[in-house]
Parts: sequence; structure tokens; C-alpha cells
Amino acid sequence: MKKKTVLITGGAGYIGSHAAKEAERSGFTPVIFDNLSAGHKWAIQSGKFVKGDLADRAALVRVLRRYRPVAVMHFASHISVGESVVDPQKYYKDNLGNALNLFSAMLQEKVMYFVLSSTAAVYGDPIQVPIPEDHPKNPVNPYGDSKYILERILTSYDQAYGLKSTFLRYFNASGADASGKLGEAHAPETHLIPLVLDAVAGLRKEITVFGTDYPTPDGTCIRDYIHVTDLAAVHFLALKHMMKTGKSDFFNLGTGKGYSVKEVIDETERVTGLKVPVKYGLRRAGDPPRLVAESKKAQKVLGWKPKQSSLKTILATAWKWHQYFHSSAFSQKH
Ligand code: UDP
Repeated sequence: MKKKTVLITGGAGYIGSHAAKEAERSGFTPVIFDNLSAGHKWAIQSGKFVKGDLADRAALVRVLRRYRPVAVMHFASHISVGESVVDPQKYYKDNLGNALNLFSAMLQEKVMYFVLSSTAAVYGDPIQVPIPEDHPKNPVNPYGDSKYILERILTSYDQAYGLKSTFLRYFNASGADASGKLGEAHAPETHLIPLVLDAVAGLRKEITVFGTDYPTPDGTCIRDYIHVTDLAAVHFLALKHMMKTGKSDFFNLGTGKGYSVKEVIDETERVTGLKVPVKYGLRRAGDPPRLVAESKKAQKVLGWKPKQSSLKTILATAWKWHQYFHSSAFSQKH
């Protein structure tokens, strides 16, 4: 039987590139659509690549006509919470405008399944932790708000046009492909784990812990870290489920277990065998003390089992990738 094709926007980015790899393992053919503004050519390690911009509706129609995907997985997005506060226009204009373009091209070409990279940021400051999927949605920054608006647009599009979608609300995506040849490379990097590894490797002076006076056992913020390969795998389980049931749905993607910033640093020392230079600083604006997913729904409904999301495996794979990314072997190859 001919494999079904999935269009992966942002497939040259961190999570999108891991999803493209996972597509092949899950029996789909990935076609990557990316303008390479934040993604990397070297991250495209699976499927076909079409360089294009989501603002270009004609290019979207062309790619849908040419490859006739059964579904679109939409990873292309600005992702920085802090930046969204200082430059909300970028988030509302691109994250929403581009997605609307994509939906309109999909409806025209009758591609009726959509998987949205959503975020725990749709919940805002949680009133209940672990956070269940039916927790009130109260995003506190334009990034989370743009994703929540997309969820609502998609709900209306399902009712009106029958466009089915699954919202996957990511907690903290982390780790790297087991090959050690694919991983996270944001510029600028703002995420904890790659920054801790930079500090361990001597590429930065230290890691600053943002706040030590939170109401948590060790005073630092707690997050639910989920391995990017486990995260990628759910996308295909969710797509298969949606195609089987013909219904839209939504899931938290986390493990249900939280680790503090200090615990991440301690585990990094164990995994690398090196000392992390640490500076204790002030809180970062807008960081809730504890973000942990109620994670049973994806496991129960989709049969998903996180396999690589122990903190140890997350850090070991991220470290393997970090060493390769900063090696001469990488720079000679790319
Ligand atoms: N963090 C930190 N120092 C840094 C970067 C992050 O202490 O240089 C903390 C941050 O305050 C949060 C956690 O690490 O509590 C995870 O932050 P990250 O930016 O990786 O992900 P977020 O939870 O914001 O999506």
C-alpha cells in the first residue's frame, strides 16, 4: 500500500525535524515546508523538502496539489514567550496570519486533517497542578494567546467546514534524537537545558538560575520535561486516531512529573561528570512556579507511552547532540 503523505510546516526546526524522522517510523512520507528563517538545512534528515513561506498562499496551494498530503502538521511558529511580550505584532501577525493562509489553502485543496503544535501556555498561571486538559484557558502572554486563538479558530472551522484538528499542548520539549546527529539549535537560545550544557561545556560563563524564592521545595521553578522523540511520536498516534474516529481532539503532552531548575542542574552534573557553573539570579517575568501536565489522556486515548522522557535520558541525548553540534565534524559537514 502506498504510504500516506504528511505536510510538515517548520520541518527544519527543532520539533518539526524530529517529527519528520518519526513520520517515516510511523509509516508516513513527510514533506517538509520551511522558509529556513529559524530552521536549518542540516536538520532536514527525512522526506522531501520544499522551501517556501507560509505567507505565500500560492506556494502552499502548489505544495498541497503536488504532494496531496492526507494531513498537515503545523510546527512553523515563533516560539519565544519573552519576545512575544515585547513584539506582540510578530506573534499575532505571523502565528495567526500564516496559519489562516494555511487553513484556507487546505480547505481549497480539501486536506481535512490538521495537527496543531499548541502549548501549555494556553492555560496561563495554573489554578490546579497537574494541569488537566479542561483547565481554564487564560494565556498570560501573546505567544500563548496566539495559540489559544488558533485552537478556537480551528474549533469553528471544524463546525463550519469539517476541518478536523488535534491540538497538542506541549510542556517542555527537550532532549535530542538518539543518533546524536539531530537536536536543538535556537538562535538566540533561551531554553534551560541547552544553556546548562553550554555552561558545562565552557561555551558560556555560567547558567543563571532565574529565581530561588518560588514556593517549591528547593525554591526554583518546576517544569515537566518531555523528550522530543516521545513528543514527535504522539503526533502520528494522534493523526491515526483522528483519521479513525473522524473527530477533533486535544491532549496535553507532558510526562506528569516535574523537575526543578536545581534538579536539572544536578542531573546534568551526574550525566556529564562535569561541574555546572551556576549563578543565582532574579525571577524571570511571567514564569509560573510549577507547570506539570495531567498526562493520562494521551496515554489512555492514544496508547502513547513516553519511552525516553526520564530526565537522565533527556540530558544524555541532549549532551550527545551538544558535543556533536559543537565539534569540528559538524562544522566540516555543514
Ligand atoms: N531558566 C533558568 N535560567 C535560564 C533559562 C531558564 O533558570 O537561563 C528556568 C526558567 O525560569 C524556567 C525553566 O528554567 O523555570 C525552564 O525554562 P525554559 O525557558 O527552558 O522553558 P519554559 O518553561 O519557559 O517554556
